[in-house]
Amino acid sequence: MPPLKYLQAYPADLQARVRQMIEQQRLGDYLQQRYPERHAIQSDKALYGYVLDIKQEHLRNAPSPDKVLFDNRLDLTHRALGLNTAISRVQGGKLKAKKEIRIASLFKEAAPQFLKMIVVHELAHLKESDHNKAFYKLCEYMQPGYHQLEFDLRVYLTWRDLAT
Ligand SMILES: [Zn+2]
Repeated sequence: MPPLKYLQAYPADLQARVRQMIEQQRLGDYLQQRYPERHAIQSDKALYGYVLDIKQEHLRNAPSPDKVLFDNRLDLTHRALGLNTAISRVQGGKLKAKKEIRIASLFKEAAPQFLKMIVVHELAHLKESDHNKAFYKLCEYMQPGYHQLEFDLRVYLTWRDLAT
C-alpha cells in the first residue's frame, strides 16, 4: 500500500489502524457513521457570511478578511486546503493589504464539521501565522475537538483519493 500522504505526521500505530480499515474496506463506513451530514454553503457569498459569523463569534478583534472564496485550483496537498494571503496594493497613494481566505472547493461536498475545521484553521491564521501552540489553542477554542477533526479530515481525504 502506498504511504498515507495526508497522515504522515501521525503516530505509526494510528496510521496502521487506518491501513487496516482500508484493507477491510471499512473506511467509508467509519466516515459515513461519524459525518453523515452535508451543508448548504455552496457559493462564495454564502461562504463569506459563514466565515464572518464564526469570526465575529470568536475573534471579534481580529481584522476581517476582505475576500473569502472557494478555489478549485487549490492543490490537495497538506498545506493548501485553505490559503491565507495578504495582497498589497497601492490605493490612493497608500499601501493597503487585502486579506483573502481561499478554501479548497472540495469542502462544498464535505461534512459541515470539516468545512468548519478548515475555516477555523484559516481564521486562526489571522492571529497566528505559524502552526504553533497558540495557534492550535485558538483552533481548539473556536471548535472543540479540533485535533480529532483534523485527523478525521485527513482520513476523509485519504478515502476520497482511494475512491477516485
Ligand atoms: Zn495553516
